[in-house]
Amino acid sequence: MNSFNDIFNQYDWEQTKRSIYAKSSDDVLKALSAGKRTLEDFKALLSPAAAPFLEQMAQVSQELTLKRFGKVIQMYVPLYLSNECNNICTYCGFSLDNKMRRKTLSPIEIMQEVAVLKDMGFEHVLLVTGEANQTVNVDYFKKVLDLIHPHFAHISMEVQPLDLEEYMSLKPYGLNTVLVYQETYHQEDYKKHHPKGKKSNFKYRLETPDRLGQAGIHRIGLGVLIGLEDWRTDSFFTALHLDYLEKRYWQSKYSLSFPRLRPHSGGMEPKVEMNDRELVQLICAYRLFNQELELSISTRESPKFRNHIVKLGITAMSAGSKTNPGGYAVEPGSLEQFEISDERSPDEIARIIQMQGYQPIWKDWDSCLA
Ligand code: SF4
Repeated sequence: MNSFNDIFNQYDWEQTKRSIYAKSSDDVLKALSAGKRTLEDFKALLSPAAAPFLEQMAQVSQELTLKRFGKVIQMYVPLYLSNECNNICTYCGFSLDNKMRRKTLSPIEIMQEVAVLKDMGFEHVLLVTGEANQTVNVDYFKKVLDLIHPHFAHISMEVQPLDLEEYMSLKPYGLNTVLVYQETYHQEDYKKHHPKGKKSNFKYRLETPDRLGQAGIHRIGLGVLIGLEDWRTDSFFTALHLDYLEKRYWQSKYSLSFPRLRPHSGGMEPKVEMNDRELVQLICAYRLFNQELELSISTRESPKFRNHIVKLGITAMSAGSKTNPGGYAVEPGSLEQFEISDERSPDEIARIIQMQGYQPIWKDWDSCLA
């Protein structure tokens, strides 16, 4: 076996979807009482049949999370470096066909942004860019990492998929975590949503976590964009991917996010709606399936939802986020990638976490641990 693609090709989307929707209450009860839960159990917990069991799922999810992680929520913040992008993605404000002014932050501008984030108390930063290989490439990333490494304990990246050697070359610069969302595992619809640019190569993206594992990246983040396709089927394939990666690249840790499609400039409507109860069900299903997994919730979600989810299985939260390059200090008015929903300050979020008896953790990693 060379990569996850070999496993992925053994599955059929429609057949998988049918098997999730065919799960019964008995399957859910079996999954709830299982010691070590299988992918079939995960399907049951994801299925419509599990909806009436949400209370029980939430209780188990809370217990498992407390046992493994304690009463803590890790705090992080995105730093958008560039909105240049050579891809067309139907759901994104930075898409090449969206006529807008493009900007990539200079070293001076990056440090202006960093000063604001440090004032807010952040030690974990997530660097985000579009995909513009001529300007925002490995050389640019090395310069940025060099610049900000002394200021943050944990550096994550969500940029274009890179080659194995490129990931390996970024590690010594202080890169800890890489997030790469497949967006959807529905191969035909993936093509519709990514008609132009390097991102239209489904297989290259699908095999990116393999390259990250081979490069020995400390933490690998997976996920899909909820709203593009049937979320239950997409989540099953995410879990299948995770299961494969954990067995093969056991030295790395794994995290998951649950981005729901948000409004953006030139926006598209979600094909599939997921309500708040369903998102809670999904989070709990992942926790019951995997107790080691870090589960993260961003400011895409509403304040009400984020307040309620603190105790139910998640381990990380962003706060005070801006989704435009320069959004914190340099150019607060520039066009965002998408609208955020929770606009409360990091201090406010920290207070809400504390009010629930949990501790917000600003520093969750140190390079001496690498
Ligand atoms: S999702 Fe990423 S790759 Fe696609 S248009 Fe937006 S920034 Fe570019």
